[in-house]
Amino acid sequence: MSLDGRLARVRERIVRACGKAGRDPAGVTLVAVSKFHPAEAVAALRACGQRIFGESYVQEALPKMEALADAGIQWHFIGRLQKNKAKFAVGRFALIHTVDSVELARTLQNKALAASVVQPVLIQVNVDDEPQKAGVAASLAPELAEAVVGMANLDLQGLMVLPRALDDPQAARPAFAALRVLRDALATRLGRALPVLSMGMSGDLEPAVEEGATHVRIGTDIFGPRHA
Ligand SMILES: *Cc1c(COP(=O)(O)O)cnc(C)c1O
Repeated sequence: MSLDGRLARVRERIVRACGKAGRDPAGVTLVAVSKFHPAEAVAALRACGQRIFGESYVQEALPKMEALADAGIQWHFIGRLQKNKAKFAVGRFALIHTVDSVELARTLQNKALAASVVQPVLIQVNVDDEPQKAGVAASLAPELAEAVVGMANLDLQGLMVLPRALDDPQAARPAFAALRVLRDALATRLGRALPVLSMGMSGDLEPAVEEGATHVRIGTDIFGPRHA
């Protein structure tokens, strides 16, 4: 199938899942995950009308950003952010999905202050409480959210989850529901809206949208398999 056709098929899946959940498809942003795919592939998808792309590695993203500087692309950062790469990420990514420690938040705050920008961010939550995994434990999320909200150059917009990989897409549903419940609790506690829920990938887009995803991160089902 053509790139165009695969993009259309993913968009249709979003529309269908929204229909099932009684949601407006305009409330779901498709982030096309272009990690391990060259700038040419990003340009080809941009030509199909896709505007928002997600990257997982700063050093891979920067040359693509440079090559496609005039393409009107909005870039999102969805990978694990090392503190020594934070200065390259701040101000370049429209949204950093993966803040998971006060230390990282503080580093981003310092870089954003130095650059005189306000950096939109999400907190990544390890809802399954898996050891060795990125994301703050759900029990520590309130503390982290309060710290981030206190940082003047960070704009906390919501939460992100990358659930454990499971064969059955529906098996991820409890993790998505848990993220939504946590978001609602944090919004109440902080007294501010946290509108963004970044959840759902190629294999589990439907349950994510049904549980309230506002951003789905789709790589494989658009670009095909990655060759790392
Ligand atoms: C690679 C990646 C994706 C895309 O996954 P696919 O299964 O290829 O759609 C989404 N989110 C994150 C955090 C990723 O690292």
